[in-house]
Amino acid sequence: MDYRVTRNVFTGSQTIHYACPKCGTALESNLEDAGDDDTCPECATHFFVPGERELDEELRQQERKDREAEQKRQVEQRKAQPGTEHAERATRERQTAQQLRKRRIAQMIVSSGGICQPHETIGLVVGFASSPNSEAAFKRARERLLESAAAKQADGLIHVQFQSQKSRGQGCVLRNSQVLEVFAWGTAVRWTQND
Ligand SMILES: [Zn+2]
Repeated sequence: MDYRVTRNVFTGSQTIHYACPKCGTALESNLEDAGDDDTCPECATHFFVPGERELDEELRQQERKDREAEQKRQVEQRKAQPGTEHAERATRERQTAQQLRKRRIAQMIVSSGGICQPHETIGLVVGFASSPNSEAAFKRARERLLESAAAKQADGLIHVQFQSQKSRGQGCVLRNSQVLEVFAWGTAVRWTQND
């Protein structure tokens, strides 16, 4: 079946022009109807609307345009948030550093005296905590002491000492209640290579 396809320059829609295969009446269909079966309004002959090749091409082009628009949109989105990738990497690195510090704290040797293992001195580290619960105050002060030692990449803490004093609480919650203030300090050390 002979046919031709025209495009409306304003709407971009395409029309198939062809003739009825039996009576030759000039007919038109939208490109979207290509391949569908239809009936001639003059002689009632059944036929398939031509133009399937053009419809396939049109659909392929539309798909390509959609894909390009999506890629462009993703590029624009990344441009709008240039820090996203960097921030994600920074978060991952921070999480890894936290895990390393936790492991270091768990393995840290803590002593109120000296230590035999060959080591180098990093320096003094301190930890402070206050709580109405004296046990909690000591525990938290010790944790903070270990945290600050771990932050200096220490393997051990020697000559650790605690000092505590009772005090009136400050702030809205603890006002006028008795709290225990605990101050802890020690010397952070790192094992030397030839141990
Ligand atoms: Zn016809």
